[in-house]
Amino acid sequence: MIKETPLLERLPTVNGEYVENFNLGRMTWFKVGGPAEVAYTPADLTDLRHFLLETPRDIPITVIGAGSNLLVRDGGVAGVVIRLGARFSKIEIRDGIVKTGAMAMDIQVARAAARADITGLEFLSGVPGTIGGALRMNAGAYGSEIQDVLVRARAVDRDGVLTVLLPDSFGFSYRHCAVPEDWIFVGADLIARPGDPAKIAARMVEIASARGDAQPIRTRTSGSTFKNTDSAKAWELIDQAGCRGLIIGGARVSEQHCNFLINTGSATAGDLENLGEEVRRRVHEQSAVTLEWEVKRIGVSHDGSRGSETPEEARHG
Ligand SMILES: Cc1cc2nc3c(=O)[nH]c(=O)nc-3n(C[C@H](O)[C@H](O)[C@H](O)COP(=O)(O)OP(=O)(O)OC[C@H]3O[C@@H](n4cnc5c(N)ncnc54)[C@H](O)[C@@H]3O)c2cc1C
Repeated sequence: MIKETPLLERLPTVNGEYVENFNLGRMTWFKVGGPAEVAYTPADLTDLRHFLLETPRDIPITVIGAGSNLLVRDGGVAGVVIRLGARFSKIEIRDGIVKTGAMAMDIQVARAAARADITGLEFLSGVPGTIGGALRMNAGAYGSEIQDVLVRARAVDRDGVLTVLLPDSFGFSYRHCAVPEDWIFVGADLIARPGDPAKIAARMVEIASARGDAQPIRTRTSGSTFKNTDSAKAWELIDQAGCRGLIIGGARVSEQHCNFLINTGSATAGDLENLGEEVRRRVHEQSAVTLEWEVKRIGVSHDGSRGSETPEEARHG
């Protein structure tokens, strides 16, 4: 019988940290899902680049940010899951630029900009992820998207090559960017426009209160589950299909904002994904519209399957 080499033994020696069988669920907003076979936190950019160059190409690599747009399936994620650490969270403001690491939280970037009397980044206080996740998702809120404020970003590819990307090369569209899925954003430069401190502070308060009113932000959710379509908001289609409050196992469609799915406490990732699929089925039956998942689903189910997924999600099995 051939004995498989444990994954850890196939990985290069690094200055960062490897953890086997890492509980990924607790890192995500949904608080569900199986473990990462190995989690890796790079010590710095050099360490990350060395890791990428030296890791055998058959080992799957997935990067995650704050896990606010992720559904990790119950069977976990094979290969290595990268979580950029504190060295990628720095925020500096100089020469008309907000220079931020990819692991900086959007809200911290918004607050740092506000403290420096910089306007235009207030919307980031309404997105509970990291800058890396915002670049991947072209995150947006309250009338602005990351593409509107991006000067340039830095990313490493699967060979560890560092590239500076200008906004034109992103292929941004609604909640999407076309940068290859295996590229890892490590930082970004954002536009720093001087503003009126009182107006900036008022805008931040307005956004915080609008979010609190409209979204179940204190629950285990991943925000908007499905993308809006060209002709309708996803929540309207879901409402018309009678799905508000729908329950499967421990998962429920939010009563407050019916494009949000909620883990009521006992949901598995399977419950949440099945509920999402049931919503899609009912919306299609009612409106002949096929909703597209905005939440990224990664990993495999308990039975080893992956459910329905987009081609880019399939890469992260
Ligand atoms: C309550 C709530 C409200 C929300 N409201 C909004 C909103 O108003 N607008 C909005 O746009 N989104 C919203 N979201 C969704 C989510 O916050 C955004 O999509 C966010 O940008 C995801 O960032 P993250 O760091 O959590 O990424 P994750 O959820 O960890 O990952 C999301 C995707 O980004 C990729 N990724 C993460 N980091 C990197 C990196 N460094 N390099 C390359 N790829 C990376 C992952 O592989 C994955 O494909 C909301 C979520 C919640 C829970």
